[in-house]
Amino acid sequence: ALAMGVTACGSSVKTVDQGASEAASAAPADTLVGVTMPTKSSERWIHDGDNVKSALEKLGYKVDLQYAENDIPTQVNQIENQITKGAKLLIIASIDGTAITTQLQQAADKKIPVIAYDRLIRNSPNVDYYATFDNFKVGVQQATSLLVGLKLKKEDGSDGDAKGPFNIEIFAGSPDDNNATFFYNGAMETLKPYIDAGTLVVKSGQTDFKTVAILRWDPATAQKRMEDLITKSYSGDTLVDGVLSPYDGLSIGILSALKSSGYGTAGQPYPIVTGQDGEVASVKSIIAGEQYATIYKDTRELAAVTVEMADAVLKGGKPEVNNTTDYDNGNKVVPSNLLEPVIVYKDNYKKVLVDSGYYTEDQLK
Ligand code: BGC
Repeated sequence: ALAMGVTACGSSVKTVDQGASEAASAAPADTLVGVTMPTKSSERWIHDGDNVKSALEKLGYKVDLQYAENDIPTQVNQIENQITKGAKLLIIASIDGTAITTQLQQAADKKIPVIAYDRLIRNSPNVDYYATFDNFKVGVQQATSLLVGLKLKKEDGSDGDAKGPFNIEIFAGSPDDNNATFFYNGAMETLKPYIDAGTLVVKSGQTDFKTVAILRWDPATAQKRMEDLITKSYSGDTLVDGVLSPYDGLSIGILSALKSSGYGTAGQPYPIVTGQDGEVASVKSIIAGEQYATIYKDTRELAAVTVEMADAVLKGGKPEVNNTTDYDNGNKVVPSNLLEPVIVYKDNYKKVLVDSGYYTEDQLK
């Protein structure tokens, strides 16, 4: 499974000197790389941090890995500390993609290259590369899994047998995370024809990104919003048929709200609820027939690609990228390496998650 990411990025380090790195001549063993991750409250970031750290260490780098529990000032301090400690390159998964401009300027002044990890860092010229998944496609896949669950589409992409109309509600991620808009745009573009045709009805009328966004991807906020939506827009025979949820943590909050309103029984099954990240609790929920689907993003691949980028830059080379158009950060288009997300349903989780070695069958029991 690792092979794909590694080949996608390529091991060929081109010898074009960017003049960007003072570390080009330094021996890896003396070279400190600063890695900052948003939070340990979601499994994926723990995997990301562990994978990036061990891959860098295998190449002989020293690593300072920090988590900020979704607190912006904490992340700002961590980045400042890494610069002070003499980090030669920074890998940053930002909490707020606009909040670290000053620190990035400090890094640039010291010729420390910066790689944005998973989330684009916005409004700064001082971001050299970006490694992520195709975030628009993640949104398309989330909406597709909703359509498949409602039987408006089949997994092979052809039309399903259902006619609708179905009642759905829409959730988006944190407004300060650039990815959230990409997920939302990909999903809404996919759902729009069905909404326009009246096949999908957003009962609450809430479709606008700002209205449906959940700050810091907080599950409790999503749960509260779902409770409010049910109270205000659903009663009697009017039931929720589907929920577009952009992240497994939110999906769990949404499912709890539905459960306390009487969903999840034989007479009133859960609506189709989507997700993202393939977190253990949500995969278990999919196996149990509660959450309908998730989007799997192999964080091992992302870590491998990012570390290849870092190594190339630190050796004075130019890493391979596969996208130089889509990720404008408000200041420049950041050269990016995009990986492929995959939809996980109950009928393919074994193949996608277990056969690839991402999880063992035991972990999902
Ligand atoms: C990531 C998602 C994740 C979300 C919440 C996004 O930036 O791309 O994988 O679900 O943050 O942690």
